[in-house]
Amino acid sequence: MYSKDVYELAHQARAKNSKKWVAEKFRSTLEDYNHCCAVCGEHNPFALQLDHVEPTSKGGEDTPENWQVLCGPCNNVKNNIHGMARIPARQPSTNDQDKVAAHVAFRIACQALREEQK
Ligand SMILES: [Zn+2]
Repeated sequence: MYSKDVYELAHQARAKNSKKWVAEKFRSTLEDYNHCCAVCGEHNPFALQLDHVEPTSKGGEDTPENWQVLCGPCNNVKNNIHGMARIPARQPSTNDQDKVAAHVAFRIACQALREEQK
């Protein structure tokens, strides 16, 4: 993890060059997350996305504490659910069956949370 000062500097850089800022914040979060999806361990770099744990549309902040790495399919399942805890980093998975099992379990957990929020 970086110190708060580094993020302050990055915030200043963001004002100057927003595209560079996005690349930098994604890079540091990817490192925190072992370059894989927090749910299923997918590690194809083209599939990985920066997710806001608490969606910005629900008042979540655009700060490192609110970022996690998900793959596209897991991010689609989570969508705009709010009140979910930040998912801890895991190790990359090369086992497709494990990934499918993780997707199914995550989908069920998300559906249950959605039902609670109705
Ligand atoms: Zn995933």
